[in-house]
Amino acid sequence: MSFQALGLTEDLLKAVADQGYSTPTPVQQKAIPLILEGRDVLAGAQTGTGKTASFTLPLLQRLLENHNPEQKPRRIRALILVPTRELAAQVYESVKTYGAHLPFHTELVVGGASIGLQTRQLRRGCDIVVATPGRLIDHIRQRVVNLANVEILVLDEADRMMDMGFLPEIKQIMGLLPKQRQSLLFSATVPNGIKSLASQLLNNPVEVEVAKQNATAENVSERVYGIGKEYKRELLSYLIGSNNWKQVLVFVRTKHGADRLEKQLIEDGIRTVALHGDKTQGARNKALEYFKTGKVSVLVATDVASRGLDIDDLPHVVNFDLPQVPEDYVHRIGRTGRAGASGVALSLVCPEDAYLLVAIEQLLKRQIPRVADTGYEPVSLKVIDAPKKNAPNKDTGKKDFRHTKKPAVRGAKPAAGPRDGAKNKRKPVSKGRG
Ligand code: AMP
Repeated sequence: MSFQALGLTEDLLKAVADQGYSTPTPVQQKAIPLILEGRDVLAGAQTGTGKTASFTLPLLQRLLENHNPEQKPRRIRALILVPTRELAAQVYESVKTYGAHLPFHTELVVGGASIGLQTRQLRRGCDIVVATPGRLIDHIRQRVVNLANVEILVLDEADRMMDMGFLPEIKQIMGLLPKQRQSLLFSATVPNGIKSLASQLLNNPVEVEVAKQNATAENVSERVYGIGKEYKRELLSYLIGSNNWKQVLVFVRTKHGADRLEKQLIEDGIRTVALHGDKTQGARNKALEYFKTGKVSVLVATDVASRGLDIDDLPHVVNFDLPQVPEDYVHRIGRTGRAGASGVALSLVCPEDAYLLVAIEQLLKRQIPRVADTGYEPVSLKVIDAPKKNAPNKDTGKKDFRHTKKPAVRGAKPAAGPRDGAKNKRKPVSKGRG
């Protein structure tokens, strides 16, 4: 199928050709004709599937159909809501790229940037707004933004927005939109929470599903390295150095861990930069730019940075720490093997984190291949059955308090086990939001 066959106008076809795209991706083939028809769409599509173009191209065409060049100042006719500043910046760039030959004006509305400048730009008028919910609400409160003329609403990465606790903001924004509008909801996963949001937001939607839920990209080769915690950094440096990897995205659990690993890798002679929610927006942009342009080979990131980062042909992703939430494994791995390219995704797993691996493999319904010889002392990734809370110890007959809040020995951590894994519900993320 060609882009012409989807019913896009010449100006959009030209923009698509400028990007070198020859064939629409599956989500584009399915979603573009439906959106052009004016239907509401609920799409289950991960980053890397070409989903941004799948809503941006028809959105631009729909706006063009009813475009009034006499309308001054411009009114906001399309609103695209995304969870993070980085994703907002990428979607904003995509709107500008695909709309390069069209008469529309787009504004980016995100936290971490000067509100005064945004206010001035918004007051001048624009047709399309790409925003994170928090900052958009700030502008609404100050009466800088008026959503009464919105014709098309897009919620991108809706599941991530829910995880980040944006539901109240989304509802507040929904209340300000005209009832008569087209709504598009894109989400990597479609859990019940998203279905319920979709039922409130969408009108008789068509469901579009492109990749199987929670399936990682087929062209990504995944491996697990079982390794003692204390050797992880050494192994990572070795893998990067010996394979001469030039662009590696490394995921860690905490911001502190990201800073520490950045320092250690630099000490090992590897050009590295860290990206996490405690960094200023300027530092985050700079880190991304250094990584994209090859000034550094390694980007050490927390999960805040994991979704929506569109880095072309990213060949290597390393889980230095496994994610606490199994679904995040799929999202992290989604950074590589995009748009048909092949990728490698490695996980360095210490015995303490074996239960997280179990949860991930349960979700994927398959085992990730193990690398048998890591060059280090072999470690077992078998999860040892944790005793039930307060159950008498088999040897001593005394009650076992390992799962009570206070560790039995000062400084000792409660043993990790499947019970801990089961408790790992998603928690709202407070930092790094728009
Ligand atoms: P997305 O899922 O929107 O983050 O897009 C992932 C990547 O695929 C981006 O780098 C796009 O530029 C690229 N892309 C989108 N559509 C196509 C297409 N039809 N052919 C080739 N690449 C595409």
